[in-house]
Amino acid sequence: MNTTLLKAWKAGLRFVATCFNEVGFLVVRKLLWRFRRPRYFILLGPPGSGKGTLATKLAPALRVRAMSTGDVFRREKAEQTNFGKQVTAHLADGTLVPDALTLAIVRRELTRPRYWFGAMEDGFPRTQEQATQFDALLASWGASVETVVLLDVDDDDLIDRLSNRRTCTNRACGRTYNLKYGPPVKAGICDVCSAALAQRDDDVPHVVAARLRTYRVETKPLCNYYQDRKVLASFHPTGDMTAQEVFVLVKTALQG
Ligand SMILES: [Zn+2]
Repeated sequence: MNTTLLKAWKAGLRFVATCFNEVGFLVVRKLLWRFRRPRYFILLGPPGSGKGTLATKLAPALRVRAMSTGDVFRREKAEQTNFGKQVTAHLADGTLVPDALTLAIVRRELTRPRYWFGAMEDGFPRTQEQATQFDALLASWGASVETVVLLDVDDDDLIDRLSNRRTCTNRACGRTYNLKYGPPVKAGICDVCSAALAQRDDDVPHVVAARLRTYRVETKPLCNYYQDRKVLASFHPTGDMTAQEVFVLVKTALQG
C-alpha cells in the first residue's frame, strides 16, 4: 500500500512539474526569446568519434545545454515514468521505439528550464523522419536548428580507437581507458577503483565494423537531409587528434 501511495505521489509531483515547465516555457518563448534567441544544435558522429565528450565541452561554449537522448531514455526507464514504461516495452519486444514516442520525450525534455534557451542534441534525431518532425516542432515554436555538426572520422581510426578501449569491470565506476592514447597506470587495473579492466563485447574489431556499417546506413539520409537544408557542418578529425583539439576545431568554425 505504501509503495502504491509513494508512486502516486511521485507521479503527481511529475505532473505538477510538467505543468510548471509548459507554462514557464510558453512565457519564455513569448517574452524572452525576443531578447535572447534560443539555439539548437545537433551532433552526429559514429561510435568512438568522441561525440559525447565534444558535447560536454561544446555546449557550454555555445551557452546551451547538452542533451544525450540515451541518458534521457535511461532516466525515464529507471524512474518508471509513462514514457519510460513504453520505451521498456518496445525494447523488450525487440521493436524500435516509434518516432512519435521519441519526439514526445524530446519535446517534453526541451520544456525543462535547463533547455529553455537551447540545446545540443546527442543521439537524436536518428532517422530522417525524426529530423523532419523535429524541424516541424521547432518551427511551431518559431525556432530552428542552427547547425548540425558531423564528426566524420575514418573507419580505420574508429576501429583502432575502439578496439584499444578497455572498460573498468566495476559497473559503479565504468571508467574507460585507451591502451594507446590513455592507458591505465598499472596494466589491466583501473586507476580509480583498482578493479580489473576488460574489453567490452561490442568493442571487438569485427563487432565494431558491424556497428559502423549500421551507423553509415542510418546516418547517410540524415546528412543528405541537413545538407539540403544548408545547416550541415562536416569535420574530419584524424585519429591522432586529442578531444581538446577537436573541440577547438569545431568551436572556432562555429563561432567564425
Ligand atoms: Zn574503476
